[in-house]
Amino acid sequence: MSLDGTYDGGNIFAKILRGEMPAARVFEDDHVLAFMDVFPQARGHTLVIPKHSAARNLLDEDPAVLSQVILGVQRVARAVRAALNPDGIVVTQFNGAPAGQTVYHLHFHIIPRWEGVALGRHAAGGMADPAELKVLAEQIAAQIS
Ligand code: 5GP
Repeated sequence: MSLDGTYDGGNIFAKILRGEMPAARVFEDDHVLAFMDVFPQARGHTLVIPKHSAARNLLDEDPAVLSQVILGVQRVARAVRAALNPDGIVVTQFNGAPAGQTVYHLHFHIIPRWEGVALGRHAAGGMADPAELKVLAEQIAAQIS
């Protein structure tokens, strides 16, 4: 899918938001939901999405909504740091299939990095153990402030 197109309410993140699909949920407020990426590029790979949005990507999003989303990204990234003590954190966001986007509901990736640990491939790794994701989600959630 290119940068142009229509929002599809049947996308996987919309289903997670509606509770139609399971996810290891970390945090939510009025504006955002954070949950564990099920094909993580690193331990603790977390996604942050707007809750009330029909934006497929960053370019589509209402600036007022985007402001709240990026505040949520910072809040969750701080919790990831506190919970997992990484050496660094990558925040990524893809727009359009040629850029690597695979799910067309705006989202940000929060990916902890440790010295000497290679980054997994984007949207191409193995599925994580749901029980492990649940533990990670609880550890990160406990550090939300
Ligand atoms: P994108 O490629 O659009 O930037 O990122 C989509 C992300 O969603 C990928 O990192 C992929 O691993 C993740 N993902 C795909 N399907 C699911 C799912 O059903 N549940 C969760 N939690 N993550 C998913």
